[in-house]
Amino acid sequence: MRYHARAMARILVTNDDGIYSEGLRTLADACRRIDGVEVLVVAPDREQSAASHALTLNRPLRLLKLRESEYIIDGTPADCVNLAILKLMKDDRPDLVVSGINFGPNLGDDVTYSGTISAAFEGALLGIPSIAFSTLVGEGFSFERCGVVAETLIRWALESQRDPHIILNVNFPVAFTGVRVARLGTRIYSEGIIERKDPRGRTYYWIGGGEPTWHPAEGTDFEAVESGFIAITPLHLDLTHHASIPRLKLLEELLGDDAKG
Ligand code: MN
Repeated sequence: MRYHARAMARILVTNDDGIYSEGLRTLADACRRIDGVEVLVVAPDREQSAASHALTLNRPLRLLKLRESEYIIDGTPADCVNLAILKLMKDDRPDLVVSGINFGPNLGDDVTYSGTISAAFEGALLGIPSIAFSTLVGEGFSFERCGVVAETLIRWALESQRDPHIILNVNFPVAFTGVRVARLGTRIYSEGIIERKDPRGRTYYWIGGGEPTWHPAEGTDFEAVESGFIAITPLHLDLTHHASIPRLKLLEELLGDDAKG
């Protein structure tokens, strides 16, 4: 399969684990193996996991060229995609944004925290089809194996996944034997806040201690990776709960007098 829309397809590669991440290298290498593809890496200069969709608006951003086609930014994953598309690639926008491969899963409810996925959403907001890649980590896991599958998916996406409003969220289990297209799972938020004392006797807190647990539900991304399948979940940015709009119409009248002032 080749991408025919123009001579060279351009892929922007980013992540939230930072420029030194092996997952980023693996993903960039997977893209470079595709004929007729030009790869630009623009990644955060340090880890930005759980940065969500934050844009840096309260301080200047620095863009540093490390070598040909490789840049770092002292900002978030969304900053990287924004600056890459609107500055570095402004005259020749990318055909695809790929983010990852994240060191750790981005499943179910956790997608809203994920810098990896938000980088893909930033691409989508700027009108570029985008894919986020993450892998569970454990004994025997290999970024290389993920990269082989990512390469085939990227080839397909350049040809066939051209709707920028739908991003693909891909999660690799540690060991996998197949692929499932899945919906987001639901997390059980049972773990508490960890509270400790620092050496000066002051209390500090640590969020997100302990292993996450999930509602076991058929057809979810969590179930897929639990069963040894790569999960691919299509996501979109419209968070509207459409079914609630008719039910909430009454608020237009209930609050209408107050709103008139
Ligand atoms: Mn990360």
